Amino acid sequence: MDNILVVGSMNMDLVVNTNRVPDKGETIIGKSFEQVPGGKGANQAAAVGKLGGRVSFVSACGKDSFGDDLLSSLQDKGVDTSSVFTLDDNTGIAAITVEEDGDNRIIVVQGANASLSPEMIDQVEGKIKEAAYLLLQMEIPLATVIHTIELADFYQTRVILDPAPAQGLPREIYSKIDYLLPNSGELALLLEEYDLRDEEDKIEQLLDWGVKNILITKGSEGVTLYHKGSQQVYPTLKVKAVDTTAAGDTFAGALAFGLQKGWDIDRCISFGNRAAAISVTRPGAQSSIPSFAEVENMKGI
Ligand code: AMP
Repeated sequence: MDNILVVGSMNMDLVVNTNRVPDKGETIIGKSFEQVPGGKGANQAAAVGKLGGRVSFVSACGKDSFGDDLLSSLQDKGVDTSSVFTLDDNTGIAAITVEEDGDNRIIVVQGANASLSPEMIDQVEGKIKEAAYLLLQMEIPLATVIHTIELADFYQTRVILDPAPAQGLPREIYSKIDYLLPNSGELALLLEEYDLRDEEDKIEQLLDWGVKNILITKGSEGVTLYHKGSQQVYPTLKVKAVDTTAAGDTFAGALAFGLQKGWDIDRCISFGNRAAAISVTRPGAQSSIPSFAEVENMKGI
């Protein structure tokens, strides 16, 4: 009962480093190209594994070289991949541009991730029952995300949802979420169909619907935690951002790692902030995730 189950996407990231992104109809010469393991689910599983946590991953990939490379990269980080489905489809990819200031733009082609169905989750129900925490994102079908959260609720497995890429969720699902980790844009998309202008009103609405903890991630400004009736700001370290890909995933994985260890929420968030700050100083997604020792040795917050 002390492990983390991550259910989500796995993608091969095809990363182009460039001085700038092209305008419509324009072709430019980029600086360099790398192929890096990614996908929000895989990144978060890799983060937990690299930090030394016990983690299993439920996902879907194709019978192709991208799938093989992604699985072995996760296994190298200590992730149990025995519940990854191998399908007759392409492994998901993400086409990513990274500009000089570290800003990124990402197009995901889901491939096998789009076929990860509620029925496939039923086949690994035992893993949900066994886990202490379920960590999810939204790069797989929404019906699968909802079904997985409902099963976790049934088995009293605590749920951490990183709602990215965000879309509206049924209201009833919010009371089953222990930790919701949107950034400001994702918060707006979650509640797009409701007439709520201020960020504070949106947060209040989600807390009213039963989310227990909301952590708004704010890039270089760190994280703000909201409970019913209280809020706390957790600033982060000033670092030189090289590539912010997977900063949020590193934060989510590190938060889950800390919660699994039984740390209090202050320590979990500070640890997550430090881990994510290190990740933005390095290129790539999974390649940028730090080890436990690196995070512990990072001074400043
Ligand atoms: P975001 O999804 O951009 O809000 O980033 C998630 C988390 O990554 C933030 O809450 C920070 O902990 C960390 N992070 C992102 N960008 C930076 C940055 N430029 N400097 C330091 N930490 C960052």
